[in-house]
Amino acid sequence: MTDNLLTPGKRLQTVQQRIADACRRFGREADSVTLLAVSKTRGGDELRAMAADGVRRFGENYLQEALQKIEELNDLNLEWHFIGPIQSNKSKPLAQHFDWVHSVDRLKIARRLSEQRPEGLEPLNICLQVNVSGEQSKSGATLEELPALARDVAALPRLRLRGLMAIPAPADDFEQQRQPFRLLHQALEQLNRDGLGLDTLSMGMSGDLEAAIAEGATMVRIGTALFGPRPPKT
Ligand SMILES: *Cc1c(COP(=O)(O)O)cnc(C)c1O
Repeated sequence: MTDNLLTPGKRLQTVQQRIADACRRFGREADSVTLLAVSKTRGGDELRAMAADGVRRFGENYLQEALQKIEELNDLNLEWHFIGPIQSNKSKPLAQHFDWVHSVDRLKIARRLSEQRPEGLEPLNICLQVNVSGEQSKSGATLEELPALARDVAALPRLRLRGLMAIPAPADDFEQQRQPFRLLHQALEQLNRDGLGLDTLSMGMSGDLEAAIAEGATMVRIGTALFGPRPPKT
């Protein structure tokens, strides 16, 4: 059976099982890892079906597409996470409509999000994106920039700095997959020694969630393993 023929419910079960198995294997509490369903390019009906199976947290990459789904699924009271690249002139709808932003990598964006977060809402949860493999992807703060950035973001009034996020270069080998995740975890621990009180490591995707859990992931961001192969973006 090809992956295309699996039902969404079956895929969800398989992902939940992978998370549970990895937690057992690496001595983690079963409830210490949260599933974030990455729903970019997926239609509102697919998210609704996933929500009916108990998924509450969705991660989106593209602002316009996300805003449409947030409105369409307003009745479900879902938790919305933005995980894509941020243009500074588009920060206001992020501050207004999301619960979390994982992809903050510079102070200018964080300041705008804090200024634009509506008073009636809880502070916006933030992860700082870190470029741990130090290559290709231009997104993400460097490990050198991180301490000052974290301190400054943590001081912004309408944000709540929760932790770190990374998208390492894909690797097939398990030990190789673990390395960047270990670096991110060490960076988090260093910030916590400096008193920041962070509780979130957003790391691990469909192909490397086990390696991320082995290294302390608290939130895995899963797209294809949950929804099937992504259709080409038109
Ligand atoms: C698309 C995406 C994911 C999910 O990737 P899959 O390999 O489909 O699980 C996770 N994180 C980010 C930032 C993404 O853009």
